[in-house]
Amino acid sequence: MPARKETESRKLLRRLQAVMAEDCRGQERLDRITAMVADSMGTDVCSIYLHRDADTLELCATRGLNADAVHVTRMRIGEGLVGRVARRRAAINTADAPGTRGFRYMPETGEEVFSSFLGVPVQRVGERLGVLVVQSKSARTYSDDEVYALEVVAMVLAEMAELGAFTGEGEALRAPHASQVLFRGVTGQEGAAAGVVHLHDPRVVITKPISDDPESENTRLLDAIEKLRLSVDSMLDAAQADRAQAEVIEAYRMFAYSRSWLRRMEASIDAGLSAEAAVEKEQTAARTRMEQAGDAYLRDRLADLDDLSHRLLRMLTGQGRGGTPVPDGAILVARNLGPGELLEYGAKKLRGVVLEEGSVGSHAAIVARAWAIPLVIQARGILQEALSGDPILVDGDQGVVHLRPDDMVRAAFDDKLAMAADAQQRYAAIRDTPCVTRDGQRVELLMNAGLMADLPSLPSSGAEGVGLFRTELQFLVRNHVPRRGDLASLYARVMDAAGGKPVTFRTLDIGSDKVLPYMKAADEPNPALGWRAIRVGLDKRGVMRMQLQALIRAANGRPLRVMFPFVAQMEEFLEARAHLTRELHRERSLDHPLPASLQVGSMIETPSMAFAPRRFFQEADFISIGGNDLKQFFFAADRENERVRRRYDTLNVSFLSIVEQIVARCDEVGTPVSFCGEDAGRPVEALCFAAMGLRCLSMRPASIGPVKHILLRADLGQVRDVIARAREAGEQSVREAVMAYLRTR
Ligand code: PEP
Ligand code: MG
Repeated sequence: MPARKETESRKLLRRLQAVMAEDCRGQERLDRITAMVADSMGTDVCSIYLHRDADTLELCATRGLNADAVHVTRMRIGEGLVGRVARRRAAINTADAPGTRGFRYMPETGEEVFSSFLGVPVQRVGERLGVLVVQSKSARTYSDDEVYALEVVAMVLAEMAELGAFTGEGEALRAPHASQVLFRGVTGQEGAAAGVVHLHDPRVVITKPISDDPESENTRLLDAIEKLRLSVDSMLDAAQADRAQAEVIEAYRMFAYSRSWLRRMEASIDAGLSAEAAVEKEQTAARTRMEQAGDAYLRDRLADLDDLSHRLLRMLTGQGRGGTPVPDGAILVARNLGPGELLEYGAKKLRGVVLEEGSVGSHAAIVARAWAIPLVIQARGILQEALSGDPILVDGDQGVVHLRPDDMVRAAFDDKLAMAADAQQRYAAIRDTPCVTRDGQRVELLMNAGLMADLPSLPSSGAEGVGLFRTELQFLVRNHVPRRGDLASLYARVMDAAGGKPVTFRTLDIGSDKVLPYMKAADEPNPALGWRAIRVGLDKRGVMRMQLQALIRAANGRPLRVMFPFVAQMEEFLEARAHLTRELHRERSLDHPLPASLQVGSMIETPSMAFAPRRFFQEADFISIGGNDLKQFFFAADRENERVRRRYDTLNVSFLSIVEQIVARCDEVGTPVSFCGEDAGRPVEALCFAAMGLRCLSMRPASIGPVKHILLRADLGQVRDVIARAREAGEQSVREAVMAYLRTR
């Protein structure tokens, strides 16, 4: 690095630090900064444009342009050279601004006399804050050293903005993380909750961006790099057994040992930044390139670099994951969460969950639903705005999140919470009423569960039993395969808690999005269509046999119901059942008590099973329709992909026909059939399923009240007629017709 750059940017940063230390705030501080930069760099103009909102920039301070234009001149992202710097997140350096593509003349600024222009983005990792500009009358291109120096100043400004150094006066100044913000996402789970933000993976805040002791900063950086390398090396050692995984970590390791990466950070330290600010400068650059990279491979490599930088930052600042305890009334805010990560928090700790990404069909969402806490997914931008401890309101019904709400919003929300409490009281009043429709049809309402913590909902919800116990959640919360004894005692406790009501245990359903942390993730192009659930069970018999033994032992003389997931052809069911029979014989030969009765069922989650041989329906003791998977395979629409997930209505006549077909095939041979996908818990869907002949529905506990409420008042014969008429009329979905019918009643 040339010696001049070193002194120039360091000198600039030293002066900037002095301005920052002065006793002034807001506008005055910005004015002093622009004056200082123009003076130090010998330019005629220095201006700071900050975001007024996500799309608009405003001139907030200037030395050299007309002072009257301050807080008047605004431009949209992409508009004019300043707007283009913001959009591209990259510097524009030109000797002839008016002749440069995109130039827009702003008469109120008096900038027509300035020929050269250098603008750099003011940004933090992934967050646009503004643009810093210098201009000169003489037509000249700024040198690399000058560009670098201005970038370093912009980087420090971004950190100071993060710390609120520019707020306090001047209504147009963006006060980061201070005002109310509304996010429109997608409903993951209904319900409403008020609480405080708890970030799953909090961002690192840099409090000391400048340092004039490059030697000690370099030592800090090298120490952290050394630790990082050691941890990546041990990751690689641990992954040696798995070639595919080792290859990925090898690429990652390459960056950790990259000389050029280290050199760039050392250069930033020499230029006057602290070690953490130097790391963040690299991370910001990696993020920007990542967003612009068209090539997926390159994007992944830049993501590696981004991740390494983030880990370094956490090491250098001591901030980050696992740092802060979960506060009371926490609303968890995260980019995405695996079910295991969510389970680690535990139901009692969280009032709600908001995900920047996430999808309704994912198992993390199912966990949130089992806990009956509101979940909003696809809340784009929330991670940039939310800080741990911010007040937050989650409206799961509308898929809306209010961050730092004002008093009016809060009051309206309190009304909503009060109304929800009233509805809960109404449902409590019908809790013990048997679910019989007005035309005398009995519909059994069961609950879905997966954790011991779900069981207290059995009496409080009015469920008549557990129609689906997802056993994989127990495997997901651990970091090793659970032992048979532990599983047996857990299953026994579940049966105890059910107090004689039936519990249907579904054998391990892993694969797809349910990846066990201790199992090699299979590298599959389409995991949802891949090696999952019963396919794994039949290939890896050890775990399946262990689980079946645990179930038999848990029953210990009581009735036992076992169900196999993801059966796609009859043979799979017969083979799985044969394993269960074998385990039963084995237990008998060991003189262990056998279950009082054994019922073995199958889920129907693939369309193929609607057309299975009659023998399948005869052999199964019961059938349960797994609507979540059945629907995704029926419409070929990924249940986790928000783009397509809601494209196809459950009440689409084609889907109702396959449900009707399955019910008819079961009825033909007298095999009981239930529906246990999430749609069973939606009142209108549940009503239509009942009208299609389903007499048993299994859902999350919180849905039992609303579903029973609608069924008690329904005449299934009339609903069946409404559906038949909509089908005859050639409707694609019967929803509108059913809703219109419900409105008239
Ligand atoms: C289903 O697919 O409908 C189902 C109940 O199983 P899971 O949601 O666990 O895949
Ligand atoms: Mg399923």
